[in-house]
Amino acid sequence: MIFLLAVAIQKITPLYLISINIIHNKSLTKHELSICIIIVHFNLIEVKNYRISTVKLALNKQFKLISRPIGLPTRDDFEYSETSIPLLNEGELLVKSEYISLDPAMRGWMNEGKSYIPPVRLGDVMRAGGVGCVLESKNGKFNKGDFVHGLLGVQSHSVSDGKGMTKIDPNLAPLPLYLSLFGLTGMTAYFGLLSIGEPKQGDTVLVSGAAGATGSVVGQIAKIKGCHVVGIAGGQKKCDYIINKLGFDGAIDYTSGNVASALKTNCPDGIDVFYDNVGGDILDLVLTMINLNARVVICGAISQYNNTTPIKGPANYLSLLVNRAKMQGFIVFDFASQYKEAAVQMGQWMAEGKLKSKEHIVEGIETFPETLLMLFSGGNFGKLMIKV
Ligand code: NAP
Repeated sequence: MIFLLAVAIQKITPLYLISINIIHNKSLTKHELSICIIIVHFNLIEVKNYRISTVKLALNKQFKLISRPIGLPTRDDFEYSETSIPLLNEGELLVKSEYISLDPAMRGWMNEGKSYIPPVRLGDVMRAGGVGCVLESKNGKFNKGDFVHGLLGVQSHSVSDGKGMTKIDPNLAPLPLYLSLFGLTGMTAYFGLLSIGEPKQGDTVLVSGAAGATGSVVGQIAKIKGCHVVGIAGGQKKCDYIINKLGFDGAIDYTSGNVASALKTNCPDGIDVFYDNVGGDILDLVLTMINLNARVVICGAISQYNNTTPIKGPANYLSLLVNRAKMQGFIVFDFASQYKEAAVQMGQWMAEGKLKSKEHIVEGIETFPETLLMLFSGGNFGKLMIKV
């Protein structure tokens, strides 16, 4: 308020002095002129600062990784801060995050050690995908008002040189869909199943984490390809959903009952493709039921990500030998050059009513550490993201 008053006084005073002198038909005295010059000069500085201040008023809310979690991450592994937003250099753009994607992979990025991508350094903003709107741009490829997808981090505002940023069109699909079906989980499902799993009509396809962002899309695409599709998920609600809403042929609730006998009932002809998101005991068990030339897709192993003891590998791996089967891991980024083609195909399936997407949106970036844990407790139902 005081600031605005000061700006107003600074704007008005020179005008007042000049107009008074015009009314009285006389020129400004030396003294009056210098007051005007000083005020106008200060006014210009203040107006410039005011522009900075409007950006500064919207503080950047961010979470930095400050320690490497042992087991499940806790709020203490992160530092929350609200900092000012820096001015842009040439070639940069300022993005306001709208939705931040929460992914199980983030847990791996917090660990030291070699992986497909370097770990997040301690003190750095936690890495995360997101979609947002360009607030300012000094980069010729992006304009103010553009919507973009990229690694925006767990923060409300990010400054980028534009590398890795893709323009998206909110008129073609609502923004959350660019993190779900048309985002990494949709792409993961598409390429993991079709390129690694190679499903054929009539195959039995089993998917774990079946009600999740990736698993639910895998099952639906397998149905489109004419397969008998069975999902493994936690709880009756999720099992009902994949059968009744997504058209799976069978569902197994791994949290209750005997999974081995449920697998036999639901997959009477054995398993041709196992798309595994979970690892651990379920992978081990399924290996005992695969068919000749089966394909086991190692997409993830969420049951192992927070282990404080060594990761549990499959004891039954010789089943691969006996069945001349293959087990292959993959990283979705390897298919980046084909994302567009997948999005077009999935968009068409969606328009035809063959593919559904479910998002689980939690309000408020401040909730990040606790919201992330939903992935590991099964608390999410659909693609988990934060609305900033
Ligand atoms: P999501 O499936 O939407 O959410 C994670 C789900 O995992 C939870 O809802 C929970 O479902 C299940 N889960 C958690 N802990 C479990 C446990 N101990 N045992 C069994 N199930 C458990 O997450 P998403 O983003 O789609 O990721 C799914 C998998 O894909 C993850 O393993 C992830 O790492 C992997 N992924 C891989 C790539 C790649 O490039 N290879 C890319 C993206 C994602 P329930 O309630 O059913 O237990």
